[in-house]
Amino acid sequence: MVKVGVLALQGGVIEHINMLNKISGVEAVEVKKAEQLAHIHGLIIPGGESTTIGKLMAKFNLKEPVIQYAKNGMPIWGTCAGMILLAKHIVNQDWSYLNLMDIYVRRNAYGSQLDSFISYQLIPKVSSEKLPLVFIRAPYIEKAEGDVEVLAELNGKIIAAEQKNLLATSFHPELTDNLSFHRYFVDKIIHNDTVKTG
Ligand code: GLN
Repeated sequence: MVKVGVLALQGGVIEHINMLNKISGVEAVEVKKAEQLAHIHGLIIPGGESTTIGKLMAKFNLKEPVIQYAKNGMPIWGTCAGMILLAKHIVNQDWSYLNLMDIYVRRNAYGSQLDSFISYQLIPKVSSEKLPLVFIRAPYIEKAEGDVEVLAELNGKIIAAEQKNLLATSFHPELTDNLSFHRYFVDKIIHNDTVKTG
């Protein structure tokens, strides 16, 4: 059984849990305490409000443990606010949160007219079919460094990327009925050498 945790402090937790539960061989777990990290094989940091999730992670002593697990190779996927939390750099802000991924993220990057929108795109590494991409006050990645691999771009801006065990998406696959990204993350967990599932 692959146990996938969803950081359950604020934001779109239940949507990720519901998606994960549709994948056979996967058990979804809400993570609220650091001790629970020992019992999962991968973690999703959901969308929501990055400032709030960041503050709650510090308050509930989850920040340092999550950083340690990530550095030890645990697969972590950040969607939207979760992507902001993973970034080492946030444009126009002199602080960052978990400082894990070599990306420069711009918050609320699509402006008010495009607060929310849906776009369809082929992301070959993830699926052979076009995927629906749902953006809600979404960030994008302005610049990526080091060994960050770009998975998808929209109008010249990076909207999905990965760096070793870390995955980040500007958009919300959990708000669609397409399981491809969740399956992709579960495969990433299964193929991660540092993770022992069973
Ligand atoms: N705008 C939010 C932030 O900056 C992210 C929005 C989302 O996660 N849907 O944290």
